[in-house]
Amino acid sequence: MHYLFHQGNLHIQETRPYQAGKPIEEVERELGELGNTAFKIIKLASNENPLGASPHAMAAAIKAINQVHMYPDASYHRLCDTIAKYNNVDIKNITVGNGSENCLEVLAKAFLNEKSNAIVDQYCFATIRILIKGYNATEITIPSNNYRHDVVATISKINQNTKMIFVVNPNNPTGTYISHNELTYLLDNVPPHIIVVIDEAYHEYVEKPDYPKSVQLLDKYPNLVIARTFSKVFGLAGLRLGYLMSNPAISDLLHRSRLPFNVNTCAVEAGIAALNDYEFLAQTKNTNRSGMQQLSNGFDNLGIEYIPSVANFITINTKQDATLVYNKLLQQGVIVRPLVPYNLPQFLRITIGTYEQNERLLSII
Ligand code: PMP
Repeated sequence: MHYLFHQGNLHIQETRPYQAGKPIEEVERELGELGNTAFKIIKLASNENPLGASPHAMAAAIKAINQVHMYPDASYHRLCDTIAKYNNVDIKNITVGNGSENCLEVLAKAFLNEKSNAIVDQYCFATIRILIKGYNATEITIPSNNYRHDVVATISKINQNTKMIFVVNPNNPTGTYISHNELTYLLDNVPPHIIVVIDEAYHEYVEKPDYPKSVQLLDKYPNLVIARTFSKVFGLAGLRLGYLMSNPAISDLLHRSRLPFNVNTCAVEAGIAALNDYEFLAQTKNTNRSGMQQLSNGFDNLGIEYIPSVANFITINTKQDATLVYNKLLQQGVIVRPLVPYNLPQFLRITIGTYEQNERLLSII
């Protein structure tokens, strides 16, 4: 390793980089080099929206390009106001970020340091673990209960240095969720100075009656913070936009923790338009619901085991070294996500695609 690498903070040197889904461009290049260009490459690797983005959101982003010579409004008033109305909360509850990963970072920056620890599930979304390490805090990892976050075990692991608890709900990459009762049980048993972060990146996809109505708990539990994103159901992953909902006292802190212009002008306008496009939202949810059914039925017929998921992806157990299956799919132009970084070397995470994309995946796998 170069000597300059070792000039970096030790906890950053020790951080394992996030392994993102393989980009289509890269697969095109690799297959092209093999002379294999017969098919269209599909990416079912990053839980993106297979329908694209709302046409209204795209039009708003294109229009906003005329304003890019100017800084955005650093308070993001109109965007925060639209988000607040969408969720039926006050504008004082909202903090925006450059994707929800930036929101999570703003939180980690505000609360974590080398003296603190944060509790996560063993299969928790990898970026959160990177952030805990990035702020030199200690991670306390609790074992999953049948791929679900165990709230009882979480409470038992709290100690005097615990500053944060992260629950990804539904979790990526397992697709499992905790119920409203489990969440309130957790909140009732956590000391009120510990921040409980519920990452609801896949919130809109969940159609279970016992899925938490977390927004309604904000008033009762001032230590609750909810993270949401525009990258999934709203299809704006490339524009980078996410937000947090919290008690105003926490929002006040988060506004100090975030950098002043952390959301770009095109994302602001696209986000506002996306929240008002209920038709696109409904289409996305319909496509996901039927795609989930199609893939689950397909896997059942093929005798492939999977973890039941409430999100826009499904994780299968290949019962072998999953990179072999991953590579075979790649050769046929289908990109999925191996879960080696999650210590699940036999598992692949597959994003629900369009009907045709799902059929193609099933026909190869
Ligand atoms: N949380 C979860 C659970 C996710 O799966 C993702 C995206 N993979 C994110 C947060 C971050 O999404 P973004 O930064 O695009 O909002």
